Amino acid sequence: MSENNNFSDSTNNELKGIDLLRNAILNRGTAFTIEERTRLGLSGLLPPRVNTMDEQVLRVLDNFYKKTSDLEKYIYLLDLKDRNENLFYRAVIENIEEMMPIIYTPTVGQACVEYSRIIRRPRGLYISPDFHSRIDECLDNWPHQDVRIICVTDGERILGLGDQGANGMGIPVGKLSLYTACAGIHPATTLPITIDMGTNNERLLNDPLYIGLNRRRITGPAYDSFLDEFIHVMQDRYPNALIQFEDFANHNAFRLLHKYRDRACVFNDDIQGTASVTLAGVYASLRLTGMNLSDQKLLFLGAGEAGIGIADLTVSALMEEGRLSEREARQRCLFVDSRGLVVKSRTDLAEHKLTYAHDHEPLIALLDVVKQHKPTALIGVSGQPQTFTRDVVNEMAKINDKPIIFALSNPTSKAECSAEEAYHWSNGRAIYASGSPFKPVQYSGQTFIPGQGNNSYIFPGVGLGVISVGARRVPDSMFLAAAKTLAEQVTDEDLAMGRLFPALNRIRDVSAAIAAAVADVAFREGLTEMARPEHLLDFVKSNMYHPQYKQRAEMDEAVF
Ligand code: NAD
Repeated sequence: MSENNNFSDSTNNELKGIDLLRNAILNRGTAFTIEERTRLGLSGLLPPRVNTMDEQVLRVLDNFYKKTSDLEKYIYLLDLKDRNENLFYRAVIENIEEMMPIIYTPTVGQACVEYSRIIRRPRGLYISPDFHSRIDECLDNWPHQDVRIICVTDGERILGLGDQGANGMGIPVGKLSLYTACAGIHPATTLPITIDMGTNNERLLNDPLYIGLNRRRITGPAYDSFLDEFIHVMQDRYPNALIQFEDFANHNAFRLLHKYRDRACVFNDDIQGTASVTLAGVYASLRLTGMNLSDQKLLFLGAGEAGIGIADLTVSALMEEGRLSEREARQRCLFVDSRGLVVKSRTDLAEHKLTYAHDHEPLIALLDVVKQHKPTALIGVSGQPQTFTRDVVNEMAKINDKPIIFALSNPTSKAECSAEEAYHWSNGRAIYASGSPFKPVQYSGQTFIPGQGNNSYIFPGVGLGVISVGARRVPDSMFLAAAKTLAEQVTDEDLAMGRLFPALNRIRDVSAAIAAAVADVAFREGLTEMARPEHLLDFVKSNMYHPQYKQRAEMDEAVF
């Protein structure tokens, strides 16, 4: 391992006996050998039979599949994480397709709603303006000091579930688990943070079991000044760490990103990660249509964080190709929000929509916009189900030989149209992707495997790339490089089945390739002081954590 993603915490290596069993990073439960049990003061504390890690994984799966609800599976897996992180990650990596939807969306959403009730051991760091001038005190209490990735939320817009206040902690905890599972970021170098700014959710305010502060959200200058203090303390304390903003409400998400992106090593996954995975889906689609990006006209339903993020990155990609000016590139992106087509003459537009307000006639219905503007791609990021109707899909198929139809709203029940509808209504010609998983669809003797535009294809690899080379900033060019790399990872066999993204069980290789591309951007743009390694891919791979039990000698070297 290189020095960059090494984790070292020498105090842990003194641990013996029951304290060792209670340390989730060092504990290996029934896998401690007889010799280790004797040496480490564990004799008698464990059942006699020594298990291999593979046997332990079998036990995990036996328990996992016996749980009768997804929320119970979530609780079981998080308890396992508290007891034995290596085993948790080994089980998750080997069973990523089954377990990712449990430790992250959609189950994590339900877990956040129930967080005040299912909480066992606290996880992550809770900070609030009550700690004004004392944030360091909280950080002193965090058990690991070599922090490289911080995921922070204020809980105001948790997935599609609105304000969940301090219950939002499930999100940074889940996201950071994916950094480890998908890209091998050492778990002890990750720090989940919830900034409790209060909540405006009446259900939580009236709930005696709510774990957060029982008061309304602070806003305005008080909010901004505490957030500013937070960023500065983090930069001072962890100068090599990447900070990911997560699930902030629209009005703060864009503002905070623009305020800090040139001053700190930050990004917003809801905006930039979503943009990158969706653009990757568009690039993969172009391999099917044989067209260029500059031939595309994208129509978005929904003009929030996801939609504007995707459009902004598409504009960067179009400009990089050199065929279009910024103005021309922006005109290739049209938006329909809850009040119809986003046009110049409207007076009700939020600031983040203004650069996409073109000089068109106002139209309300999506079908009318499709008929008039003839898009090549329809991208659903509205959170409104069944809005890509049969008529809309028919019309897209009339205009395009292979219409690109991405129904990205989550969860599955919110998708603008299902995979089955998209394929059937377009006579099997749609190039379809969704935000949540859909089962394969049979149409006219062909099996289509719908692509899932999961952000987990992007952010773990971006994180690994950034921290491997100690990049100071996370420019959009990194997300563009990530999108292109992800699209390159899609095989011709994937495409033949309609799958626009690689199989999830290849995610660690995909993340490594993305990390190498991101690191390359850092070197090309002078964002790192590090000397460029000869082989970037080998270098980032050498930084990846693999969940396995180390011998004590290795533990004493404090390298995991
Ligand atoms: P957001 O709240 O920031 O934006 C939602 C937008 O939809 C707003 O502009 C709103 O005005 C618009 N809208 C609401 N009702 C509408 C209607 N009837 N017609 C047209 N527009 C309407 O949310 P977001 O972060 O942009 O996320 C939007 C959706 O995208 C969510 O469902 C989310 O799950 C999904 N998403 C998917 C992915 C992914 O697939 N990887 C990533 C991020 C978000």
